[in-house]
Amino acid sequence: MATLTVTPTAGVKPDHFHRWRIDEPNGPVSTGVCRVCGTTKDFKNWLADGDFITNEEHRMAA
Ligand SMILES: [Zn+2]
Repeated sequence: MATLTVTPTAGVKPDHFHRWRIDEPNGPVSTGVCRVCGTTKDFKNWLADGDFITNEEHRMAA
């Protein structure tokens, strides 16, 4: 009976901090690409809208 050993490879636990290069905001989500390993990840642009935080600040100030 053969034993299959799974070796962790890139994508599981990267040994580096991803250096995300993020596209210009083009909607609610931007795609970032790691310049080191090429992994892609979606970033939400909620900061651009800022509704959530703004409302919360106003509520606390009131
Ligand atoms: Zn990376």
